[in-house]
Amino acid sequence: MKSILMGVLLILLSMSCNNNSSPNGRGGTAQSKITKGSEASSESVKYAVAIHGGAGYQTRESISKETDASVRKVLNKALDTATKILENKGTAGDAVVAAIEILENDPNFNAGKGAVFTHQEINELDASFMDGNIMDAGAVGGVTNIKNPIKAARAVMEDSPHVLLVGKGAEEFAKSKGIETVDPSYFKVQANLDEVRRVKKEALVKKHGTVGCVVRDIHGNLAAGTSTGGMTNKRWNRIGDSPIIGAGTYANNKSCAVSATGHGEFFIRYAVAHDISALMEYKGLSVKDASNHVINEKLVEAGGEGGVICVDKDGNIFTPFNTPGMYRGFATDKNRGVAIYKDEDFK
Ligand code: ASP
Repeated sequence: MKSILMGVLLILLSMSCNNNSSPNGRGGTAQSKITKGSEASSESVKYAVAIHGGAGYQTRESISKETDASVRKVLNKALDTATKILENKGTAGDAVVAAIEILENDPNFNAGKGAVFTHQEINELDASFMDGNIMDAGAVGGVTNIKNPIKAARAVMEDSPHVLLVGKGAEEFAKSKGIETVDPSYFKVQANLDEVRRVKKEALVKKHGTVGCVVRDIHGNLAAGTSTGGMTNKRWNRIGDSPIIGAGTYANNKSCAVSATGHGEFFIRYAVAHDISALMEYKGLSVKDASNHVINEKLVEAGGEGGVICVDKDGNIFTPFNTPGMYRGFATDKNRGVAIYKDEDFK
């Protein structure tokens, strides 16, 4: 009797586990559509790259046709750049930095050029980078004059004995390594300034964007990077999850590479990027089950909004999010696609 009951329980459990979201992170029944995103990865691939330009309130009503088209164009440009490097046997790390640099230079995204404004109406940028082959990482927080913070993050890993540098010290370090600096006015995008002034009136802190990239290269190595302006109207030198290794970024050749976007405080508290990797490494979960569990179960229960892009050691990609939209894209040697809205498959 006991064993029959156990059997029924196990069947019920496996049914509920299989009812996972699609690679786009939608919950529910779209099993047939699951192949669309994981198709990229379920066959054996030589390399795989995924990018995001932030999870948030992207809906067809809130995004103009022009923004929709221009975001897709930049996502494709970032994918082109990364895939070219990977086709030429380049490293996961080089592809991550090159893709993120393109997104940082575009005002559509809350990173680099398009970074949002703080309460003091300045721009404070955070970024991090991790190499899953050597399990080393670098990050910068609260920098105000580094054109491409992702480059500074990687330099912290490669050229310093540290992992995380912040503020003036991080800027001094980057300058000493020949990383391009700009006048802080470079980051002034009028729409972002208007937004912080509006948000200040409502006494809110709003999130907006972030960019990231994860790669599995043809050598089998993984890398991840994330770059952000943080949250509109943040103050007191608030630092989010993006430069925190294990929260916003993680890569481990034994499991996966992860880049996150969303309400950073939750991603720090739940060590989101590392949690996904740990579920894979210690519990043997697939990248899909691990990331779906953390984003669509744990974080949803906690009230933490956002998403992740993940690639595992075999090149399987999964990009779950629990918000109305997430700018995202992927490419492998076999397939590629970009998407914005929740009810949309990669195309
Ligand atoms: N995670 C970023 C932060 O909290 C913001 C975002 O991704 O929207 O700083």
